[in-house]
Amino acid sequence: MRFSRSVSALALAIAACTIAPAAEAATQPAAAERTPEAARQFIARAEKSLGDLSLLQSRADWINATYVGDDSDVVASYFGTLATEHGVQLAKEAALYSGIPGLDFDTKRKLDTLRNGLTLAAPSTEGSAAELSKIATHLQSEYARGHASLNGKDLTGDDAEAAIGTDRNPAELAELWRTWHENTGRPMRAEYARMVEIANAGAKELGYADTGAMWRSAYDMPPDQFSAMYERLLGELNPLYTQLHCYVRTKLSQKYGSAVQPDTGPIRADLLGNMWGQEWGNVYDVVAPPGAGEIGYDVGDLLRAKNYTPVDMVKAGERFYTSLGLPALPETFWQRSMITRPRDRDVVCHASAWDIDNKEDLRIKMCTKVVADDFVTIHHELGHNYYQRAYNQQPYLYLNGANGGFHEAIGDFIALSITPEYLVQIGLLDRAKVPSADKDTGLLLRQAMDKVAFMPFAYLVDKWRWGVFDGSITPANYNQAWVDLKRKYQGITPPVARSEADFDPGAKFHIPGNTTYERYFLARVLQFQFYKAACDMSGWKGPLHRCSFYGNKEVGRRLNQMLSMGSSRPWPDALQAFTGTREISGKPMLEYFAPLQAWLQQQNRGKRCGW
Ligand SMILES: [Zn+2]
Repeated sequence: MRFSRSVSALALAIAACTIAPAAEAATQPAAAERTPEAARQFIARAEKSLGDLSLLQSRADWINATYVGDDSDVVASYFGTLATEHGVQLAKEAALYSGIPGLDFDTKRKLDTLRNGLTLAAPSTEGSAAELSKIATHLQSEYARGHASLNGKDLTGDDAEAAIGTDRNPAELAELWRTWHENTGRPMRAEYARMVEIANAGAKELGYADTGAMWRSAYDMPPDQFSAMYERLLGELNPLYTQLHCYVRTKLSQKYGSAVQPDTGPIRADLLGNMWGQEWGNVYDVVAPPGAGEIGYDVGDLLRAKNYTPVDMVKAGERFYTSLGLPALPETFWQRSMITRPRDRDVVCHASAWDIDNKEDLRIKMCTKVVADDFVTIHHELGHNYYQRAYNQQPYLYLNGANGGFHEAIGDFIALSITPEYLVQIGLLDRAKVPSADKDTGLLLRQAMDKVAFMPFAYLVDKWRWGVFDGSITPANYNQAWVDLKRKYQGITPPVARSEADFDPGAKFHIPGNTTYERYFLARVLQFQFYKAACDMSGWKGPLHRCSFYGNKEVGRRLNQMLSMGSSRPWPDALQAFTGTREISGKPMLEYFAPLQAWLQQQNRGKRCGW
């Protein structure tokens, strides 16, 4: 299995079964044959065929990513289609078995994994699978063709995204925002509504109330309980978000004047340096307190001063994990990984971590440069590899993170640990150059602009979809509901009037791409929870954001306990193994940013915060 550093489109398991699966084809059981023993045998066959197929598919994908070309495209998409179709067939068969009495824990759990492993399910009605597949593919290509304009000049999505990050002219920003949302989102509206109808019918056939309920069923609790947990977490973080919002609004108002950005009410969506207002780091320069942004060193400079090569950087990342007592990476990792961009061919540079054989054939694929960001990315990617290796004794259907948020959270939690203290411990930074406490505000504010600002956005992307799938949001109010959610949770308002001719949700990749978003929300919360647990275990006494647990074997032992469970147990069991608690909580994230929150409250004194 592969974990990409950012989002990659999930395979849509929706096509009709036209190609025989790689291993023996399962035939659907008649009602009388649906016994616990038959279910166990079905699971055994499924794990074997999925495992066999994944060995070939991973290799095809690896070749496709490291030797880009028409031939490798064809081979990769051949195996992709095969895997998709096999997944659909297994989900449908699993649904037939999952309700029978007398199933043992593992069989039931694995049937559920197969049953809710699809993102969109087509019903068995003649022609539905083909129609759903066509719409889903078309929505994705609509997004890929999306474009915007700046001073009347046409821009691709990438260029528009970059421009909104650096442009500081409110009229131009409004043009970028409006043209992107209208050109990209509007044409999708009718197709999206039709897709919802078909996918809901498919989810019902698999035994779920609707597609949103199917997505939420992957979390070891009833869908409603998951929604409640999600709401609670956002509530915990809201006081911090409100202070950040208040401070940023003041700074934007100072910069642009109150006619553009009033000092009260919501923030204009296009002024935050991001097309969706989801992460605000691009406007850090607008809000930074004078002098506080300077930390006195750059990790890239430190690496270059010590003559680090890209391979040295990966070795340093590995040492983080071995310092915790985890085993060294296998020799094949160094032989087979792609650590730098090859000179002779096109490759996909986007960083990712791979587990080719579900055992020891771990690899990363990066075009590493000796710069600070890549040093962080290496620690993150190796987190995926160490997770993959820790659970490699599990059966195939448990070769995964404890829930959708865990895998990304592990990489990010280790990346949080690249503190000045850690850099001292590994000999990159002189202790005399560790930034003084008065630099913390700038460092924390810069992080919060991305990590804290993201939370209400991450929350509402699926909140909107859950409403669409359960019918509480209808095509008649698709756009207004989106605008309302953004205003309610993010305190953000569009720069220009919207109507139901618009389809602003479609202008966000994950909506037409049908990629669920709750995993990003949970990963952000969990990474701070893991970090706090590790710092507590190592006896760290200072402010949480300065902690390093480098070299602590107890952290490694407990981490391995959690990682080696894979997805074999309900995720609260895994969380407990490392953190001692079964509750996912926003409190460690609040503790991490506590010095910033106190500072923000001071800055916001006398202001009417909220919107
Ligand atoms: Zn990742």
